[in-house]
Amino acid sequence: MGTEQHTEKMSRQEITDLQTERLVRQVEYAYDRSPFYREALTSNGIHPQDIRSLSDAAALPFTTKADIQDRFPYGLCVVDPGEIARVHSSSGSTGRPINTCYTKNDLGVWAECMARALSVAGVGSEDVCQIAFRYTLFTGAFGHHLGAETLGANIIPTSSGNTERQILMMQAFGTTVLHCTPSYAIVLAEKMEEMGIDAKKLPLRLGIHGAEPMGDGVRDEIQERLGYRIARDYGLTELGGCGVSCECEAQDGYHINEDHFYPEIIDPSTDRPLPDGEVGEMVFTTLTKEATPVLRYRTRDLTSLTRETCSCGRNAARHGLILGRTDDMLIVGGVNFFPTQVEQVLSSREELSPHYMIRITKQGRRDVATVECEFTPDAWSCRNDHLLQAVGDRLQQDLRTQLGFRMSCEFLEPFTLERSEGKTKRVLDQR
Ligand code: ADP
Ligand code: ZN
Repeated sequence: MGTEQHTEKMSRQEITDLQTERLVRQVEYAYDRSPFYREALTSNGIHPQDIRSLSDAAALPFTTKADIQDRFPYGLCVVDPGEIARVHSSSGSTGRPINTCYTKNDLGVWAECMARALSVAGVGSEDVCQIAFRYTLFTGAFGHHLGAETLGANIIPTSSGNTERQILMMQAFGTTVLHCTPSYAIVLAEKMEEMGIDAKKLPLRLGIHGAEPMGDGVRDEIQERLGYRIARDYGLTELGGCGVSCECEAQDGYHINEDHFYPEIIDPSTDRPLPDGEVGEMVFTTLTKEATPVLRYRTRDLTSLTRETCSCGRNAARHGLILGRTDDMLIVGGVNFFPTQVEQVLSSREELSPHYMIRITKQGRRDVATVECEFTPDAWSCRNDHLLQAVGDRLQQDLRTQLGFRMSCEFLEPFTLERSEGKTKRVLDQR
C-alpha cells in the first residue's frame, strides 16, 4: 500500500480502475474468510466472481450496525485474535458500543488515510498539532495522532479536558493546529474569552473538527472566535474510525479516501443506489481491510456525493455536509426533522450561543417540542423584556418555517447548558 499510489493525483479513470481491482479482491477476501459474508452472498445468489466492476457492487448485500453489534466482541473481524494489533470502540451515541479490530497492516493504512486527510486539510511537517480528542477506546485521538505523526508534525497529545491547561500548552508551544470535536472547540473558545486571551494573537491557524455534526453557521462562528480556518473530518468506528474523508481549504465537501473506501448513496426507503448529487444514505465498502472487511456498510448518515474535480484540483470524490443520521431523525406530531435543522436556525441568531438542547415531552396525546438555548454573555447583559420577546418571536417563526411545526423556545442564562469535551447529546426525548 505505497503512499505514492493514492487518489489525490489520479485521474477519475485511474481511481475507478484501482477501486475495481481492490473491490474484486476485498469481496473475494471477505467471502473466503468470513462465514457471515459467505452466507450473506450465497443466500443472495452471488458468487465473488460476479463482482467485476464498481456497478456490480450494487448487487452485494448491505451490512448494518446490528450485524456488528450482534457479534460482540469481535464483530465482523476475520483474522485470528493473535493477528489483531489494536482494538477501538464507538462512542455509543446510538445504542450499544461496537468494537473494530486492526491488524498491523490496517494500522499502516489508517496512518496513511489520516495523514492524507490531514494534508488535505492543510497540515504539514512544520505544524504543531494539539490533539484534544480524548485518548481512549474512541478512534479520534489515536487516528489524528497517527496521521500527524506520519506527516512529521510536532504532536502535543493533551487529550480532552483540563481546558485551562490546554490553553497554556497552546500558548507555550505555539500550537498551529487544534484537533477536537466541534463541541470542545466551543468550550475552548469560551474558556479563552473568560481568561481574556485573544485567540487571534496565537499561532493557531487551523482547527480540524469531526465526530459530530457542525453546520456552516456554527463553523463560521468558531472560525471567527478562534481566528482560524476549520476543516471538518469524518469517519466511523465500523470502517476503522476517522480517516474516511476530510474537507480541503475550499470547504466545499469532504474528500473521500477513495482508494480505501468505495462510496455509494442509496435511497434509504427503497435501498436503491442514487445518482451523484442526490441526498440519501451514505454506504461504504472497505477496499483494503485485513481484520474487518465490510461490504456496503449502511452508515445511516445522510448526504450526497460528487465526483467532479474540486477547485483545489483534487479528483477524489467528495461528500457534502452530514445533514443528519437516519437514526437521529425525530418525529414530532407526525413531522420528521433532524437536530441539525434546529442548529441551523439557532446559529443564524447572533444573540445566542451555539449550545442547545431539544426536549420532547407528551402533553396528553400531543407531542411538545421545546428548544432550550442560551444567550451569549453580551446579549444577556443588555437583555430586556422587549429583546427577549423579539428574539423569541423571530426564532419561533424561523423554526416553524424550517421544521413545519411549532417548536417553543426557552432562553437560559449563559453557561447553563452542559458543556461536552467529546460529542454533545442534543436531544432529550421524554415521551
Ligand atoms: P457512534 O457515534 O455511532 O457511537 P462513532 O463514534 O464511530 O460512533 O461515530 C461515527 C458517527 O459520527 C458517524 O456515523 C456520523 O454520524 C458522526 N460523524 C462523524 N464525523 C462527522 C462529521 N464531520 N459531521 C457529522 N457527523 C459526523
Ligand atoms: Zn478540494
